[in-house]
Amino acid sequence: MIDTRPQVPVHTGDTAIRELVAVREIVHAFLTADRPEEVFQFALERVSPLVGATFASVYVVEENDDVMRLAAAYNWPERFRPFLGQMRVRLGLGPSGEAASERRIVEVPDVFADESLADWREVASELGFRALVAIPLVTRGRVLGTVTFYFAEATSTPESNGLLQIVADQMAATAEKARLIHDLRRANAALQESNEELERQYLAALEARRLKDEFLANMSHELRTPLTAVLGYTYLLQEGFSGPLTEDQRRTLAQVTSSSERLLVLIEDLLELTTLKRGELRVDVEAFDPRDALREAIEGTRGLPPTVALRVEVPEGTVHWMRSDRKKVVKILSNLLSNAYKFTTQGEVCASVETRNDLVRFTVRDTGIGIAPEAQQLVFEEFRQVDGSARRPYGGSGLGLALSRQLARLLGGDIELQSQPEEGSTFVVELPLEYQADLRVEAGPP
Ligand code: ADP
Repeated sequence: MIDTRPQVPVHTGDTAIRELVAVREIVHAFLTADRPEEVFQFALERVSPLVGATFASVYVVEENDDVMRLAAAYNWPERFRPFLGQMRVRLGLGPSGEAASERRIVEVPDVFADESLADWREVASELGFRALVAIPLVTRGRVLGTVTFYFAEATSTPESNGLLQIVADQMAATAEKARLIHDLRRANAALQESNEELERQYLAALEARRLKDEFLANMSHELRTPLTAVLGYTYLLQEGFSGPLTEDQRRTLAQVTSSSERLLVLIEDLLELTTLKRGELRVDVEAFDPRDALREAIEGTRGLPPTVALRVEVPEGTVHWMRSDRKKVVKILSNLLSNAYKFTTQGEVCASVETRNDLVRFTVRDTGIGIAPEAQQLVFEEFRQVDGSARRPYGGSGLGLALSRQLARLLGGDIELQSQPEEGSTFVVELPLEYQADLRVEAGPP
């Protein structure tokens, strides 16, 4: 806001001091005013009497236009007031327009003595001025407008031109400041808008994710029921309940069973993952030897290529037992082993377990194709495969690692991966020996 403190009383004859006081006040107004129009108005009111101007005005250039609009006016005759807001000055036209377009002070000592200003005489006599000084408002090479002082008497160059120049510079700086603030506000508003847009997109993504999970949960549930029935009937057929089978029929049925069993595992994985993500998966705690969990996983996992050796490293003697969900531990290890078998064609797969302090650490290491560094986090996301194309050489759903990591986190641990393309991968599962419900890591992003 404008400083309305009483002005410092000055000796009337001392023009220099009066000018200094005026400049000081204008600078203060410049620093504290919110809107440039306020400073323009204040400056005109302080300076015009000092230089003997009857009235004065400030015009500022309209953005992307060649006209200037009236931004402040001092002492304009009452009858002109209603029109002030609509006043426009074209750049290059008249003294104010010329001052702006030519970037120089335009002085008219006597309108009535200047033949080139014959058009102005009518306005001049109506408004009651004879002389005028128009000073361009320039900052950093840009013209922002003009300040024009009108004098009732014909005058040669006012001695106070120095003061007028300072005031004009101050006004230009104010207008520039206002423009910068305006730009900043606009940028801010744009930023806020894009933030809101991002927020909207984020919420939409969350909603899409929720719908996907819901869909997967429902679908896997719906698929499991008929599939279990199919398996049930095939077992009955295999048992000969519907009569004896030929060798051919037996082979075909065995294929149907194994494909259905694979499908069932897949559906159950999906169901387990979605239940887990909803925080509804139960943890059944029992005490067991971690070596037994590893052995069980090894025995239950098929697909080790004949060209690959399997090495198992378990400590001798007594080890600390785990109190955790054995089935889930076995499931994690089976997934890791089946991947190791799938992605290794020569060398070896090594499975080991060790216990230290309160932790148990299972390691599954292979000498297979390895995983590129940029894919090492991605492979823990659902449905993610390093090669997800339809022509990929390896089968799979992309669910195993996502489920395994979420299960490990559910049990209070995690899975880490180290891998070198062409050299192999090492998956380390670290779990607390003792499951504690309050320590479990909430299922979240992989
Ligand atoms: P999938 O059913 O495809 O095996 P996973 O979630 O178990 O799903 O694994 C995701 C992807 O991670 C795999 O498709 C493969 O690209 C990569 N991957 C997992 N384990 C290994 C491994 N031992 N060696 C090389 N790549 C692996």
